[in-house]
Amino acid sequence: MSERCDLVVVGGGLLGCLTAWIAARDGARVLLADKDQVNQHASGQNAGSLHFQLEYRMVEAGPEAARVAAEAMPLHLDAAARWARLEDEIGEPLGVRRAGGLMVAENADQVRTLRFKAELERSWGLDVRTLDRAELDVLAPYLAPGVVAANLSPLEGKADARTAAPAACRAAVRAGATVRTRCRLTGADRVPGGWDLTFRESDRAGRTQDRTVRTSAVVLAAGVWTTGLGALFHAELPTVPLALTMTVTSRIPRFLPHLVQHAGTRLSLKQSADGTVLVGGGWPARLARDADGAPAFDRKHHLVPRSVAGNAGAAVRTVPALERVPALRIWVGATTVAPDQLPLVGPVAGAPGVFVATGGSAFTLGPSFAHLLARLVSGRSPEIDLAPYDPARFTERSTV
Ligand SMILES: Cc1cc2nc3c(=O)[nH]c(=O)nc-3n(C[C@H](O)[C@H](O)[C@H](O)COP(=O)(O)OP(=O)(O)OC[C@H]3O[C@@H](n4cnc5c(N)ncnc54)[C@H](O)[C@@H]3O)c2cc1C
Repeated sequence: MSERCDLVVVGGGLLGCLTAWIAARDGARVLLADKDQVNQHASGQNAGSLHFQLEYRMVEAGPEAARVAAEAMPLHLDAAARWARLEDEIGEPLGVRRAGGLMVAENADQVRTLRFKAELERSWGLDVRTLDRAELDVLAPYLAPGVVAANLSPLEGKADARTAAPAACRAAVRAGATVRTRCRLTGADRVPGGWDLTFRESDRAGRTQDRTVRTSAVVLAAGVWTTGLGALFHAELPTVPLALTMTVTSRIPRFLPHLVQHAGTRLSLKQSADGTVLVGGGWPARLARDADGAPAFDRKHHLVPRSVAGNAGAAVRTVPALERVPALRIWVGATTVAPDQLPLVGPVAGAPGVFVATGGSAFTLGPSFAHLLARLVSGRSPEIDLAPYDPARFTERSTV
């Protein structure tokens, strides 16, 4: 047995890096392992929106689905407070800007959605109010004349997805964590007091060697790979993978201070500090698949031209100034949601010492997830009731 540690974090996205940082800062011997590079997947490919309102995907399926999705609000409120101090705690800029977020409506149906949503969100303690057109003329004159109302959440904004996880990773290293890239978890054996984990490490020339690490605790922070990794621990961790489209425009003078979303279509918009505008909001792309039809997460996913056009159309219809701004780059990233839109956060059933978090807006919720995981790993109880996010909830229901 060559190596021992207190915690192995599997996955070097934002969630894994933040978890490794908190645990190492609290005194644990931490190994963070990623099969590729830090921030190479969803955490580095996403829109960087810090959204605390319910997203369109949560309200489009009707009021009951929205009520279930709103059960994640304690996590959102916790994450909002953590993002407010994260740059100071990490000691590096993360591109956090919180000038507020608007979810806009263009017709009476969508205004009804906004009002229902605001009431639901306020019942959980989120500060949201519905603005009429006259108020929007003052606050957001860049919005199209067809926008008749919007919900404003002052907490919303963005962070820089390109830099947040690497900065958290550096903080983890400064706190004493070991980070290994090109280091893939391939096996897990239960031993007294913990796990023997097998990693396949590869060098730049593609040569591989296996390494075993004994650890008391494991955190799975593996995004779309979570369900597959659960199987190594004989655990069911059901997630639904989604491939999504993102577009970034060329630079234009700053005119868009808010995060802009839409109550009737998939859309998120924001202007970065460098002047580019990031356009996303959940337009589907096509997951790469292997010969058996199973998603192949290690391959490149495929753009769907209709999504690119639909996303651009929604953006221009909402913020007409974008019509004259060229798109610079379009890409696809993959992420997970759970079947009920609530995240999976907590201990992995049947695998003592193993914990998981994934699902949904895990960039926004990353700091909250990481804090909860670090508490669970060290045997402290979480400050937030994790029952609604229990990773075993689908398994238990299916056996009733
Ligand atoms: C296009 C797009 C836009 C999005 N927009 C937003 C947004 O605006 N706001 C928001 O809150 N969320 C957004 N999301 C979701 C968000 O990006 C993800 O929920 C979040 O980044 C997940 O972070 P993570 O650290 O859990 O996973 P990831 O960043 O995917 O990291 C997981 C890591 O695990 C590693 N790994 C997997 N298997 C193994 C293994 N066997 N051994 C070692 N390492 C392994 C992978 O290599 C990867 O680096 C978006 C997602 C996409 C794709």
